[in-house]
Amino acid sequence: MCKVTIVFDNYSTSPGLGASWGYAAIIEFKNRKFLFDTGGEAEILQKNLKALGESLKDVEAIILSHNHWDHTGGLSWVVSQLKNPVVYAGESYVNELKKDFHEIRPHPVGKQPVKILDGLYLTEEMEGPVKEVSLFLESQKGIVIITGCAHPGAVNIVKRVKELTGEAPFLLLGGIHLYRASKHEIKRVDEELKALGVKYLGVSHCTGEEAISYFESSWGERFLKVGVGSVINIKEGVI
Ligand SMILES: [Zn+2]
Ligand SMILES: [Zn+2]
Repeated sequence: MCKVTIVFDNYSTSPGLGASWGYAAIIEFKNRKFLFDTGGEAEILQKNLKALGESLKDVEAIILSHNHWDHTGGLSWVVSQLKNPVVYAGESYVNELKKDFHEIRPHPVGKQPVKILDGLYLTEEMEGPVKEVSLFLESQKGIVIITGCAHPGAVNIVKRVKELTGEAPFLLLGGIHLYRASKHEIKRVDEELKALGVKYLGVSHCTGEEAISYFESSWGERFLKVGVGSVINIKEGVI
């Protein structure tokens, strides 16, 4: 079982769900549940979870991609909802977290990739304008990567995961921070992701309107237009 439900995003799939700057997704894998990032605002996250009939009750760990408000904004509320909150986050960010949240059990992600369970992993905290951790998992159809903002660069992250798994990724989800990128840069990323063998692209959040429309026409059916409310159920197909 591999299911990703986007619960916070800049884009929404239904008027009943709040779209706002940020990203959060619930990952259900092998009957276990994880939360990847917490969005920009607790109130919107809460509203979206309710509208989607989702609950954090069985979430066994929170994964924080990086220390930016649009990924950590819902953290206080999320932590208050969990009994024994386990938090995976970059080493550079963990000390700060420990100061603010005494109740969490921090798992620092340093210079080595981390295995959360068989088939579900985090990259090391990759260098970039902002250090960041990305998630990757082995689904029935292939490797799925989820990024927060992809500050170390979407191409670098995909390259790294490909190096670690020895496989071309099946699907790339998350934000890839091209909202201020030039046409030239968008084109370069597009070409490199294709050359790396990425099969499907479901990027949203800080990817930006221009890059999203570019990918839509360039990837055709291989581009998944996703937002809050999108459920990516790998077993049953792509979306
Ligand atoms: Zn972001
Ligand atoms: Zn960011």
